[in-house]
Amino acid sequence: MGRWIHTVHGLTVSGDAPEEVALLEGLASAAAGDYRGAIRNYDLALESNDMEVRGAAMFRKGQALGSLQDVRGAMQCFSEVRRMAQQTSSVHLRMQVLREEGYAARSLRTGKRKMEESCRLAERLEDQQSLAVCISGLAVIQNRLGNIAASLNHFREAERIDETFGNDRGRVYNLNGAAVGYRNLHQYAEASTAWQTALALAENLNMKPMIMKILCNLQNLYALNLADIAAAQQWRRRCVESLQALGREPWGPECPICLQNLDNGEKVFVDPKCYHASHFECLPDGAGQRGPCPLCRV
Ligand SMILES: [Zn+2]
Ligand SMILES: [Zn+2]
Repeated sequence: MGRWIHTVHGLTVSGDAPEEVALLEGLASAAAGDYRGAIRNYDLALESNDMEVRGAAMFRKGQALGSLQDVRGAMQCFSEVRRMAQQTSSVHLRMQVLREEGYAARSLRTGKRKMEESCRLAERLEDQQSLAVCISGLAVIQNRLGNIAASLNHFREAERIDETFGNDRGRVYNLNGAAVGYRNLHQYAEASTAWQTALALAENLNMKPMIMKILCNLQNLYALNLADIAAAQQWRRRCVESLQALGREPWGPECPICLQNLDNGEKVFVDPKCYHASHFECLPDGAGQRGPCPLCRV
């Protein structure tokens, strides 16, 4: 059988049938953020005779619709996949669906229940790699529920599993989640260690936006929580270098609110969402870590 090979958004994809190629092209489009293009490809893949291909296409279509904020359409796709999964008795497919439904659920309690169920299925399949992803999903939901200690434990557990597989990308996300948990529990030394481990891994993998986010978090941890202004200045310098590596204009020497120098010994907050830097004391109450950035409203 001839192998179909296409190049989409810089990724080369291959498959044995045109429907499989369409599925892979859809994945490449979605990875590049082109969700509408992805959905067109998934619709082509849905014409496959192979139930596994159809199930995967429907599942991915649900994810793409979710990314386009079409929650209703996404849920319809997931319930269709669940019906297919029952027909093929594919536990693996059902586990994936439960995880996505967990993320998309409007009620956090429902989300938590679905995530827990996906973890149980991954355990039953003895699929450790999927188990790490499911546990990480549960950690996200626990964090949204305000269960900080539970969230932290789940992130650490997922990270330990990722480590046994050498899944460094997964470790970066889970270490970042664990560090947020440590910080929120006022365990600042542990937060610093987790973020610095994540930073080293992210640098190896050249995960530029993640590097930037971690550097902002370390800057804020040292400035606001550890009151170590000199160390915070070092992290801030690395934020600037990293911004330049991203091709972004770094901030000027002054605080945009009081126009005084940022390095005048006061606590500085660097927003991990938009990378704006200002004196922490100049920010209105409720800004920064606790709310949207007052400069750009992100
Ligand atoms: Zn200021
Ligand atoms: Zn901003």
